[in-house]
Amino acid sequence: MLNIDEIQNGIVIDHIAAGTAIGLMDLLGIKDNRTASVALIQNARSSKAASGRKDIIKVEGDASWLNLDVLAYLDPNITVTIIQDGKPVHKEKPQPPKKLVNIVRCRNPRCISSIEEECDQIFEMSSNGKYRCIYCEQEMQVKRG
Ligand SMILES: [Zn+2]
Repeated sequence: MLNIDEIQNGIVIDHIAAGTAIGLMDLLGIKDNRTASVALIQNARSSKAASGRKDIIKVEGDASWLNLDVLAYLDPNITVTIIQDGKPVHKEKPQPPKKLVNIVRCRNPRCISSIEEECDQIFEMSSNGKYRCIYCEQEMQVKRG
């Protein structure tokens, strides 16, 4: 882990609920990426957050491998800012995608996707805003960290 104060080119994931960024690292794909320059800032001061604190993740360089899909679902307050040549060029609140493919495993031990190794893990957003497994309708449960 590098300590990057200002990144020149990359991505800043901001307004993460304080204390939860470490748990997001695995879901974002950061734990599996051994070469990326990643900075984790925990419990930074925040005037916006109810707790007065927030976590921030910064990734220097190419961030296309980051799995941002699941972010919006887990924490609707998160913002993603793209940095180019030291300046923020684009800021957005990620929207939860309709479908999550091979990001989260179904927790139902009898589900076909738990039994068949080759089966894709697919969750679709249902009408109540929850993700459900397309095979067994089990609601998605995310284990952080
Ligand atoms: Zn299932």
